[in-house]
Amino acid sequence: MDTATEVRTHILDWYEDHFVEFPWRSSRSPYHSLVGGFCTQQTQMSRALETHARWLHAFPTVANLAAAETSEVLRVWGKTGYPKRAVYLQRAAQQCMERFGGEIPSELDDLLSLPGVGPFTAEIVRCFGFGLAVLTVDTNIVRIFGRVFEGDLQPIKDTSKDRIKEISEQFIALGRTDLINPALMDFGASICTGRPRCDECPVSDICKAASKFISGQVPEPQRKNKVYAGSDREWRGKILELLTRYSRPVSEKKIRKILSLESDEQTQRLLMGLEKDLLVSRQNQLVKLG
Ligand code: SF4
Repeated sequence: MDTATEVRTHILDWYEDHFVEFPWRSSRSPYHSLVGGFCTQQTQMSRALETHARWLHAFPTVANLAAAETSEVLRVWGKTGYPKRAVYLQRAAQQCMERFGGEIPSELDDLLSLPGVGPFTAEIVRCFGFGLAVLTVDTNIVRIFGRVFEGDLQPIKDTSKDRIKEISEQFIALGRTDLINPALMDFGASICTGRPRCDECPVSDICKAASKFISGQVPEPQRKNKVYAGSDREWRGKILELLTRYSRPVSEKKIRKILSLESDEQTQRLLMGLEKDLLVSRQNQLVKLG
């Protein structure tokens, strides 16, 4: 048995005992998968699950989403974070109506041409929505492949993209990507994590990085998280949250006063950024969502 086959077998066995259902994986709906792809970017799974359910309740079809008011789209997105995603998701739906007859396309290039859709979301749609033989090579999968096959501790930095592609192709050729894809993603999220649990790992006998971790080596930190408190991102979130509470436009002055923003310059900078991202619009110093 070659290494890829052996790793695949062990991880599928692990998955059988640790299966968790996610609606965007099991519904076999390209639209549900597309929404799932947007909801899961940089977001905790529990929050992504709530947003996904809320979103499909409010906008059950591509057509519903395309026709909705952007302010409503932002309200439904709520506190999921990175609200630009909600606007891009709606614009992607509008393009599907205009360019693809109201359907989500299955071709990679078509998907990548939609606003806010990168390789990760495109492959989520193709694998889970259309059942195609592709792998969603997210950071979890890169981490597993780079460690097991190359012995790299921090594969996202150290393993070459070509090598990851080569290993992915071996896994795709072995079939049932609809099973091995979620199995790898979940295995990377719970066992082969940033600080891997090699002592519980079913592939530790095969993995080239296992002995390094077991002897106490640690991966170099990837990057420092930016401080959120007091950042523009936090203030932008607060402005959007405030606007969702009003059905009418709110004056710039009132926004500054309610949020105790430190100056007019700061208020203008934040509003200009939100406007540029199409999250708010302004007229006569009145601001509204969308
Ligand atoms: S042995 Fe450790 S590093 Fe290797 S795949 Fe398992 S958890 Fe990851």
